[in-house]
Formats: sequence, C-alpha cells, structure tokens
Amino acid sequence: MSEVLDVMVVGGGQAGLAVGYHLRRLGGLDFLVLDAQPTPGGAWQHTWESLRLFSPAAYSSLPGRIMPPQQGEEYPTAAHVVDYLTDYEHRYELPVQRSVRVEAVRRDGDHLRVETDSGVRRARAVVSTTGTWTRPFLPAVAGRNSFSGRQLHTVEYRTPEEFAGMRVIVVGGGNSGAQIAADLVHHAELTWVTRRPTRFLADDIDGRALFDHATARRRAFDQGLADGGGVASLGDIVAVPPVRRARDTGLLKARPMFASVTANGVEWADGTQAEADAIIWCTGFRPALAHLAPLGLRGSRGRISIRGTEAVGEPRLHLLGYGDWTGPASATLVGVGRPAREAVRDIAALLGRDGRRG
Ligand code: FAD
Repeated sequence: MSEVLDVMVVGGGQAGLAVGYHLRRLGGLDFLVLDAQPTPGGAWQHTWESLRLFSPAAYSSLPGRIMPPQQGEEYPTAAHVVDYLTDYEHRYELPVQRSVRVEAVRRDGDHLRVETDSGVRRARAVVSTTGTWTRPFLPAVAGRNSFSGRQLHTVEYRTPEEFAGMRVIVVGGGNSGAQIAADLVHHAELTWVTRRPTRFLADDIDGRALFDHATARRRAFDQGLADGGGVASLGDIVAVPPVRRARDTGLLKARPMFASVTANGVEWADGTQAEADAIIWCTGFRPALAHLAPLGLRGSRGRISIRGTEAVGEPRLHLLGYGDWTGPASATLVGVGRPAREAVRDIAALLGRDGRRG
C-alpha cells in the first residue's frame, strides 16, 4: 500500500499553486499537487491568443510574488500568465506531478483514496482545485443540433484569422463574449448576441475594483451587514483596450438573444433571421467536480455545499478556485490567496499540526 500523505491537491493551476504556497509556508505537512496537463499554467495555456487580463499585472498576483509587468502591455496576455505560473511553481519548489488525472476520490477509513490514471494515492486531506475550463457550458437552445455550420465554445476559439470573411454569431455578454466579439470585428461578418443588454464597466474600472468590491462584500457579510450585491451589480464587461477600441468603432453592438437555431443560422422570436457559417458559444462553464462524485456530496446547481472552503459532510475535503461560492474572487489570480490560506489553516488544525514540525 502506498504511503498516506497529509494533503493531496488535485489540480495544478493557479488555485492549486496558491494552496501549495501556503502549505510550503506553513511547513510540517507533506503534500503533492497532481495535475492532468503535461506543462504548467492551468487553463491559461488554452485561451485565445488576444486574451487580456482584466487587471494590470501587479493586481493579478498570487501570494508571495508580484506578477512582473509585461513589456508594452498594461493588461497582460495569457502567455504572460503561463510564464508567471511556471516561474512561481519553480520558485517555491512546489511538488507538482504532471500528466496525472484524478479519476475518483473515495473515503477509505481514516484517509481519502485518490484514484488516478496512473495508480492509487492516499491522503489525510484533499484540496480540489480543478477549475472550470474542462467543463464548458452550452445552453439548451431550440434547434441547436440542426445547424449545418460550425459550432464551438469559448474553449475552442483561438484566432480571428480562422474565421476570416465568415458570417459568425458570438453568443454571450460576459468578458469572454465581448473579447471574442471584439477580436472578430475586423475579420468576420459579426453578429453579437447577448441575453440582456450589454453592460460595459466604466473605462477606469477594471479587475482591481471588482476585487475591492468582492472584499468589501465579504467584510459586510462577516459583520452581518446588508448585502449590496455581487460584482455583477457593477457591470459585466471590463473595457480592456481591445474591447474599448472595438466598442469605440461602433461595430461592437449586441442584439438580443435569438429564439432558435436553424439549419443556416438563427431566428429571433419576431421571425427575423441571420445566416451564419459559425456560432461561437461564450456561455460560461461549470465546476469540474466529476472526480468527487463517489463522495456523494453534490449540492445544488452541480456544486458541493461548503462552509468556508470545507465540504459540508466531509471535513477532509476543501474546494477553491471555482467561483465566488468558494470564496470571494476565489476564481481570480489575486483573490485565490486568501481562501487558499484559510483552507491550509483549517487542514492543519484538522490534522492536529501546528506547522512547526521539524
Ligand atoms: P485552472 O486554471 O483551470 O486549473 C485547473 C487545473 O486542474 C488544470 O491544469 C487542469 O488540467 C487540472 N485538472 C482538472 N481536472 C483534473 C483532474 N481530474 N485531475 C488532475 N488535474 C485536473 N482571472 C483573473 O484573475 N484575471 C483575469 O483577467 C481573468 N480572465 C479570465 C478569462 C477567461 C476567458 C476565463 C475563462 C477566466 C478568467 N479568469 C481571470 C478567471 C480565472 O483566473 C481562470 O479561470 C483561472 O484559470 C482559474 O484557475 P484555477 O486554478 O481555478 O483553474
């Protein structure tokens, strides 16, 4: 039987690295991070080329190390984030084992059994940080399967050149939809469709303000004060420079959501139609939690009920990075540090370690 580690972190993206950082810092707990991908950088390795972070580098940092600025870019690219995460992992000598996919986590007496595609591991506690990128969400829209053109999700979009001269419908009014629509404005015949009227944040508001808002909301919540609403109450779209430029050309205008997809395009409730060669669904993600199914913890909306970051019903399991439900701004670079620290603190207490073991 393999040795029983103190902590197994499942997922080696930014959330997993932040947990690793705090485990290193605390000391006294042996741990391993398992990541399904062959190289560091989590989901940032797969985003479209022109993606820009919605905050400047210095405001997009994990605990311990400020993200260095990117030459010539106020809002860094995804490639810059991959470099930063790669450096972070090496700098703190985080023990990440790659190309290891966790298939199931089960209770096994006094520990958790972690089944992977390369054998069984064991740990006294598990932190799940598998993100959402591997679970793209497509809404149920009438006729979606009848479309004869190409359909893809945000996760498959790379460059606008691929769609040069094509009639493209982009669906979604969040940051992904806005950035991809902006990317296509000068390359394709674009129709941008959003479920509700687009809400651009003021040009001087970016991820910094969103983070401050999430932090203030958390403080209000801790103090039992009234909830002023999540970051969504500020707006949906950060006007990063490429989006701002496209918006200012007047070409980035959204139409309301269509009623159905047809063989050749889409149709609105009033019978208006638009023909299309491709539909790009920028319609979000769900948490990648299939490996936790054997624990029987599922809560509503495909999530797991948690208190802080700890799973209700399984104190040896913590979750973070999936969204605000796992801590305010937990699904951001700058926001994941705090829930990571709290998760490590709770696990150390659960395992009866004070972090100063020799
Ligand atoms: P991921 O980066 O997805 O990492 C999870 C890791 O777990 C991956 O390496 C994956 O392969 C691995 N994994 C998954 N399942 C398993 C398994 N079963 N076994 C082993 N390994 C597994 N945040 C910001 O702070 N600023 C931004 O500007 C910003 N822009 C964004 C733009 C887009 C388009 C999106 C989608 C998100 C953006 N975010 C941004 C949010 C967030 O920072 C990213 O989604 C980030 O990648 C989340 O990190 P993570 O570590 O939680 O997940």
